[in-house]
Amino acid sequence: MTRVYNFSPGPAMLPEPVLRQAQAELLDWRGTGMSVMEMSHRSEAFRSIASSAEATLRELMAIPEHYRVLFLQGGATGQFAAVPLNLTGDGGRADYVDTGQWSKKAIAEGRRYLEVNVVASTAATGYSSVPPQSEWHLDPAAAYLHYTPNETIGGLEFHWVPEIGDTPLVADMSSSILSRPLDVGRFGVIYAGAQKNIGPAGLTVVIVRDDLIDNVNSRAPGVLDYKRQADADSMYNTPPAMAWYVAGLVFDWVKAQGGLASLAERNQRKAHILYSAIDSSDFYENPIDPECRSWMNVPFILAEKALETTFLEKAEEAGLVALKGHRSVGGMRASIYNAMPEEGVVALATFMKDFEERHG
Ligand SMILES: *Cc1c(COP(=O)(O)O)cnc(C)c1O
Repeated sequence: MTRVYNFSPGPAMLPEPVLRQAQAELLDWRGTGMSVMEMSHRSEAFRSIASSAEATLRELMAIPEHYRVLFLQGGATGQFAAVPLNLTGDGGRADYVDTGQWSKKAIAEGRRYLEVNVVASTAATGYSSVPPQSEWHLDPAAAYLHYTPNETIGGLEFHWVPEIGDTPLVADMSSSILSRPLDVGRFGVIYAGAQKNIGPAGLTVVIVRDDLIDNVNSRAPGVLDYKRQADADSMYNTPPAMAWYVAGLVFDWVKAQGGLASLAERNQRKAHILYSAIDSSDFYENPIDPECRSWMNVPFILAEKALETTFLEKAEEAGLVALKGHRSVGGMRASIYNAMPEEGVVALATFMKDFEERHG
């Protein structure tokens, strides 16, 4: 068996010990004689899996008591609709920051349910920086402000949290949750599709302040209704049980790594290795303002576009896979979430140097 260094933006690498534990428990979860995939979600066994995953996540992120943690389906894309439906009742207004492809999608979906005010957009400059908050045009009547702390496609990250007074702050943290410590108390809603930093696809984690769950749109689908889901412990309907279980194993793994503070150090170090490799050469380039470069997704282009295919082929031969950039931006992108070991990043930086020596 050969495991590669997988730089996929998502679904992404999972920690090997997590996969091994899931494998060991696959046929018989702790003496139950069945797989988690085969268990009733109402069983005592699954209830213990579910509540222990939530407890560990709460501990890791220091989630305050007055927040609910929901384990849902529908991805971050489902939340693009769920957020307006839950936070603005039968209609209203909200502020959105536009920093790239994922904010654009959230805005487009939001517009189906409410009046969207785009407080700032860096589209005109190719989304290469985060707009400073001093330039935002906030709507005093906004029910919330939505932003995307890490733009997975562009490789752009907010290294600060907006300060917007009493307006609830809503964050799509699909590609940055668990990458560093966070003051959850500053947010109204945090949501994330699992397949980047949490676990397998099919699970969506929503962390919502409990005063925000009681104003749902009367036509909202029940499965997207925070209150119904919260009242049912995220089991209003059958939850993505297997993905929830594996997420729990990932949370245990994060804890075993020393928690978010130690992962943050490691993540910053990993990103630094790659950005240094890019900046120290004329052969590679990253277009993002150095102040706003993502720790999780590192896009780069080659000076000679014609070499892209060769680069990807040779990288793959060296066990460095899924480096192709998003179809909308081209070039390369290395996604280096929590589960990507530092050795994988070093291997990529070394490969890049060798490739440049051969072809530069
Ligand atoms: C991947 C991603 C999404 C889309 O997630 P789905 O689970 O496929 O809906 C949304 N926002 C961000 C920031 C992402 O990285």
